[in-house]
Amino acid sequence: MAPYWDKYFGNAGALYALGRQSFQAVETARKEIALGFNCQPDTIVFTSGGTEGDNLALIGVARALKAKGKHIISTQIEHHAVLHALDTLKAEGFEVTLLPVNSEGLVSLGEFKKALRKDTILVSVMYANNEMGAIQPIADIGRQILKWRRENNTLYPYFHTDACQAAGYLDLDVEKLHVDTMVINGSKIYGPKGVGAMYIRRGTPLVPMIYGGAQEKGKRAGTENVPGIVGLAKAYQSVQKHSTKESIRLIKLSEYFLNALNKTISKIQLNGPAIGMNRLPNNLNISFMDVEGEAMVLYLDEFGIMCSTGSACTSTSLEPSHVLRAMGMPYEYAHGSLRFTFGQTTTKSQLDYVVKHLPNIIALLREMSPVNTGIVKHASYKK
Ligand SMILES: *Cc1c(COP(=O)(O)O)cnc(C)c1O
Repeated sequence: MAPYWDKYFGNAGALYALGRQSFQAVETARKEIALGFNCQPDTIVFTSGGTEGDNLALIGVARALKAKGKHIISTQIEHHAVLHALDTLKAEGFEVTLLPVNSEGLVSLGEFKKALRKDTILVSVMYANNEMGAIQPIADIGRQILKWRRENNTLYPYFHTDACQAAGYLDLDVEKLHVDTMVINGSKIYGPKGVGAMYIRRGTPLVPMIYGGAQEKGKRAGTENVPGIVGLAKAYQSVQKHSTKESIRLIKLSEYFLNALNKTISKIQLNGPAIGMNRLPNNLNISFMDVEGEAMVLYLDEFGIMCSTGSACTSTSLEPSHVLRAMGMPYEYAHGSLRFTFGQTTTKSQLDYVVKHLPNIIALLREMSPVNTGIVKHASYKK
């Protein structure tokens, strides 16, 4: 990314040589992403991240089709970038069905088929969930949509998937997934924050949300973030190259970590699919009964251990995560959830360090819990 901040700082839309260099860098990045998605480079649009991509995929396609139908299908466990975009569409008169999930956080194909209607114009199902790692059956849903279109002799519904969490570990081949739009972002794959890429299948109707210049084939106006785009493509290439090896390594670490916690802490449960099943290899979401997630996060932070509770984006709200609630989890467990996200730098000795401190923290918090004492005392377990 570095040369594109100073040496090659030209506007990718300019005609002079410096601009053309930036243009070349953007087009190379576009080709690199397209190679990973198994699509043509001209179907890739760069955005400011996952949120913008999800907004454009949903609002852009729904608004383009509002004369054709009013019904949209999505799921209860989507990221807020999808759920809140759907709220906006509801206010514009669209009808939204949010599919439930089972206790593992998985959408059922049967429920999906039942929800399909003649006026369904759009379906949006995330590839993998950010809170508890459940990998959804995107290709199966995609095939079901193709079948529906054939049987009903229609072009609808279009199919969007939010693949932000999947990009580091799963196959993003849009032909295998049968998606019409797909979104990834830099920040989930060791890339720069504030940049994303979006696939838009040729022929997919879409009205832009940002108006201005003719950049990105008129689908997304504004001067391109050249260093961000270059960094995003490099990050994507890098994670995809290492995804198989890294998955195996992280699954082993997850099993080791969960076993160790199970031996030292009572009343805990893994949320979401079993390790190694339909679950992202880098995600462990664990509930600790009778403990507040926020308290655990603050305690662990004192020890330099960084994890989250609920979803990171809602850590300032007191409601338990909408994802855990959708899985039917009782409040006592939903409130005491921790999300450990592993990555390239995670080692066994780091996990041993967590296993050394977490049981003490849990014991202390359980002792102080109103369930046990009726009062909340000041905590005292220190490093
Ligand atoms: C992080 C994330 C987003 C939002 O992406 P930004 O780049 O922060 O806008 C959307 N969906 C999922 C599943 C995510 O994990």
